[in-house]
Amino acid sequence: MRNFRRRAPLAVAAVAVLGLAAWQADRYRKVPLDRAINPLYWVRHWRGEDRYDPRTGLLEHGDPNAPEVALTVDDGPDPRYGPAIAALLERDHVPATFFLVGTRVKQYPQVARLLARGGFEIGNHTYDHQRLPALPPHQIANELRLCDRWVAAVTGRHTTLLRPPGVQYNDKVLQVARSLGYVTVSWTVGAGDYDPHPPQWIARRVLDRTEPGSIILLHQDTPATLAALPAIISGLRARGYRFVTVGEMLRRLHVPVGGEAATAGLTKPKHAR
Ligand SMILES: [Zn+2]
Repeated sequence: MRNFRRRAPLAVAAVAVLGLAAWQADRYRKVPLDRAINPLYWVRHWRGEDRYDPRTGLLEHGDPNAPEVALTVDDGPDPRYGPAIAALLERDHVPATFFLVGTRVKQYPQVARLLARGGFEIGNHTYDHQRLPALPPHQIANELRLCDRWVAAVTGRHTTLLRPPGVQYNDKVLQVARSLGYVTVSWTVGAGDYDPHPPQWIARRVLDRTEPGSIILLHQDTPATLAALPAIISGLRARGYRFVTVGEMLRRLHVPVGGEAATAGLTKPKHAR
């Protein structure tokens, strides 16, 4: 018993150190730990069901055989960092998909217009950034329609891609989005740029986690993203990756809807008619 008492704190310390190491290692894993330990994730992955599901209209991953990745930038338009992010991407000829919030489009129309004029793909991030699973279907539809109305009024373009706030969705959200002609876009690589991490940390995490077909989730309203982007772009190019919009990613998966950049000659979304 005395022995046990002496050793117990040691054992607790060892478990804590191991736990901390696993948590740190997880930050740079290709597959996040919660998915890696879920057998269902691997079954779906091996069957190729974690890419695009035509029944739900959910995009989870691009073509794993194509060396291309999509940069997605949420929460704009942001007057502090949006224009600089756009300028940097334009200078380096990097296409990207910006998911905009309706109320912010209303507040900063000049930034939204600048993104659209830069040739970037514009997606729907709802009207006022609400967690959609908590809303009844008609309110979910309103969130999407109102955001689209503002994007269209300011940029002249309609949206066909939805990134739900917090990437929180359920069957109800997917169904409403699908009925309005949207593809719901998930992500595979979280840059972690919303926490105060140094740019090198963010870039390393993205480079370590990216694989062919990755959808990289970034944010527009933080200085960290802007600072990390040059290393992300040059690092991914050095590894042989090509940047595509989400619309192009969908086109490669033969999905007959997609973002503005990909919809030429394809099915028009219902709400845009
Ligand atoms: Zn968001």
